[in-house]
Amino acid sequence: MSTCLRLTSRIHHLQAVAIPSQTVWPRTRSFAHRTQHVSTGVPARSDFFKNLELHLKTMQDKAAAALPGSDWMPFEMTPGLPPERVDILIVGGGVVGWSIAYWLKRTKPRDALRVLVVEKDPTYSQASTVLSAGGIRQQFSLAENIQLSLASADFLKNINDHLGVLNEDPVDLQFNHSGYLFLASEKGAHIMEANYATQRHAGAKVQLLSPTQLKGMFPWINTDGVALASYGLENEGWFDPWTLLNAFRRKALSMGVEQSFGEVKGFNHRVHSVESKEFGRLHIKRITHANVQMPNSMEIQPVECTVVINAAGANSGTVAEMVGIGSGPHAMEAGTPIPVEPRKRYIYVVHSPHGPGLDTPFLIDYSGVYFRREGLGGNYITGLSPEEVEEPDSTNLDVDHDFFQEKIWPNLAHRVPAFECLKVTSAWAGFYDYNTFDQNGLLGIHPQVRNMYFATGFSGHGLQQSPAIGRAVAELILEGSYQTLDLSALDIKRILHEEPLLEENIV
Ligand SMILES: Cc1cc2nc3c(=O)[nH]c(=O)nc-3n(C[C@H](O)[C@H](O)[C@H](O)COP(=O)(O)OP(=O)(O)OC[C@H]3O[C@@H](n4cnc5c(N)ncnc54)[C@H](O)[C@@H]3O)c2cc1C
Repeated sequence: MSTCLRLTSRIHHLQAVAIPSQTVWPRTRSFAHRTQHVSTGVPARSDFFKNLELHLKTMQDKAAAALPGSDWMPFEMTPGLPPERVDILIVGGGVVGWSIAYWLKRTKPRDALRVLVVEKDPTYSQASTVLSAGGIRQQFSLAENIQLSLASADFLKNINDHLGVLNEDPVDLQFNHSGYLFLASEKGAHIMEANYATQRHAGAKVQLLSPTQLKGMFPWINTDGVALASYGLENEGWFDPWTLLNAFRRKALSMGVEQSFGEVKGFNHRVHSVESKEFGRLHIKRITHANVQMPNSMEIQPVECTVVINAAGANSGTVAEMVGIGSGPHAMEAGTPIPVEPRKRYIYVVHSPHGPGLDTPFLIDYSGVYFRREGLGGNYITGLSPEEVEEPDSTNLDVDHDFFQEKIWPNLAHRVPAFECLKVTSAWAGFYDYNTFDQNGLLGIHPQVRNMYFATGFSGHGLQQSPAIGRAVAELILEGSYQTLDLSALDIKRILHEEPLLEENIV
């Protein structure tokens, strides 16, 4: 029986799944790690603790034997407690947080800098990084975005030079260099031409194609309505997001970065007032402690820190609120919230036996519908960002299957007639770290909180930029200014100045 289904027929849906390909487990800590070994001839304090641990273990075993079937465990020690003091505390262990941690430690190795990454969810079940489409492109309209992705592509192509760890397997990023293919209608052709000029000027290898050239190169495309196409010849395609996240994490840990699987629930801070030419009288805050709550515990662990980096992805606006950002009077800088919020985006996996096949780029149609090949077995992933007025409920990650049926499939099948015959085999949803102000990254220090740095708001292009973003943020913190790429245009102050930095190619 054929698996093909016509556009009008009912499609099969599997339940929305978001299964990480690898699971990261917290490294546990025990008393043994905290003891010091001294040789004094009398039983040392460390021996006492060693024995205490042994006694506790014996008692736990007895209790477990006495209560078969119960998972209650007396004297359990909370694993992964954060240290009492660090130099730099990073909120969020997604790809951006771990990239920053790696670059900080690479610049200031060993004991020169104590860096802690605090991540609330060791399974990463809702992190944007692992739910993303894994794409990298240089086809942006802003020079900063093009340069960020060019620098990141260079990093990714040589990933083992950067993130290889002695005696560990090399990183296999599964970087698929199939390029991005943007299609423009008559209305958008002049913008595509302008973007092309900016991209070439920045050093990106992109080619413009007429509809005839497009058809010659990709015969499976229906070119109706297409006035112009642009195709990335180098440094574009997709890779496995989990692998990149784990590679950054593994390398950073090997260099001495510490991690704690707890949730940052708030901050302690000091306040003082200053006169600012830019913003008038300001009440400046300086965070002294981040308060971390461990899973299954009511206890709050205060961690003294000199610098906090807000890399909490879609939750970074909420983390900023914890230190009062956005809670002052409106029209004052203190009343301006960080405009980053979770916005739900669906990805559908389809099987299409007669689909375009191996030679499929990451195609972005002018309707907004995108798709790319997924593996080698006739599978593809596809999606579309909804209109502002139809943004779905972002309190859960449920998938709307009608969205595929009504908004995506008609456009998909129009552009690639072979997609009239397909089956949805699975789907998932993830949160964009959506910057409602201008859909671009927000970097730098907040004028109101002098030791909170931001790296957030990437709105659908943060994965690919993470290697270069990590380096930039480390430069800003350790050197006081950007050293390799000038990213001042992405400074967070543009929100307060109400100067949006608009990117034409937001997907
Ligand atoms: C469907 C979809 C498709 C995408 N496609 C692409 C693509 O093709 N290419 C691309 O470049 N980008 C893409 N993106 C965007 C990209 O995934 C994000 O921009 C990027 O992953 C952001 O990384 P992050 O580390 O900032 O956020 P995350 O990966 O979300 O990490 C933030 C972490 O912070 C943790 N956290 C939050 N609050 C706290 C707290 N209070 N205490 C402790 N921890 C906390 C969270 O648990 C989370 O793990 C896509 C996103 C989605 C949803």
